[in-house]
Amino acid sequence: MTLTERQPVLSVRGLSVRFLMPGGRRIAAVTDAHFDVAAGECLALVGESGCGKSVLASALLGLLPANAQTAGEARLGDLDLLSTDEQTLARRVRGRLIGLIPQSPAAHLTPVRTIRSQLEETVAALTGSRGRAARAQAARSAAERAAFPPDHLDRHPHQLSGGLAQRAATSLALVGDAPLLLADEPTTGLDRDLVDRTVDELRRPVDTAGQALLVITHDLAAAERIADRVAVMYAGRLVELADAQAFFGSPGPRHPYSRGLLQALPDRAFSPIPGMPPELGELPDGCAFAARCARATDTCATLPHLTSAGAVACHHPYVQEDLRA
Ligand code: SF4
Repeated sequence: MTLTERQPVLSVRGLSVRFLMPGGRRIAAVTDAHFDVAAGECLALVGESGCGKSVLASALLGLLPANAQTAGEARLGDLDLLSTDEQTLARRVRGRLIGLIPQSPAAHLTPVRTIRSQLEETVAALTGSRGRAARAQAARSAAERAAFPPDHLDRHPHQLSGGLAQRAATSLALVGDAPLLLADEPTTGLDRDLVDRTVDELRRPVDTAGQALLVITHDLAAAERIADRVAVMYAGRLVELADAQAFFGSPGPRHPYSRGLLQALPDRAFSPIPGMPPELGELPDGCAFAARCARATDTCATLPHLTSAGAVACHHPYVQEDLRA
């Protein structure tokens, strides 16, 4: 069975997030996102800072600010995350259905307590386990699955390196055996060697326990290393959904923005995309990439849509012949 044939763990349909600003101004942070993440699969949601990917993650977790309005659906089990009340999100979703691997592990860990006590407390909160031995065993098991060394369990967060703090935060996310793991910019601030190790460790529960992993990242090299599929976001919209091997290898990305992102990498052409993304409060009616796109024509004044897997939201995507050139 291929990944795309598997039952999705998370199914997002038409997800939009608007922020209502003072004076009645609306900012379209995410518009009409469609994607699935299957068990045993990693989907990397990539794009530059400010493209809306972290807002999308916050929408899934029910952590948007009060001035946010959402539309669409995000199905996880029997719940639509967008219409689930805060009490249910806190009781059933965070930790149990979604394990969050945070952007800043240091900020996520309690500084005055050892990793062991934080893990055991999380075990008690998520599993209701009252037995001390069972709690200790579950805590050790979560640490082991995240490759956190057992002889560091009695250390405090400030006594850990950046890589070990990341593993400690990952251990906490694994305690609840959530079907979906969500990693938000997990490689920010790490040096290249640590990025590779962190990414390999994040991949482990996908391969060993069949958990689904959604990685939000601006780091394309990390996405290439970890992902089965890639979703590219630009100015609040998904512009390309592709198999990772095809996207990073051959034939390569089909959307001009995706192609520009890859060519901006130091180990590729190292040629940055000219111009800047538009402000999310001032998006054009047509393609938001048009002002930066060498392939733009008059047709691009109308909005290109992406609604199905393996698709590209572009009126003039690269085709096989272009990509071989
Ligand atoms: S729709 Fe037009 S402007 Fe937008 S990326 Fe495609 S070719 Fe470029």
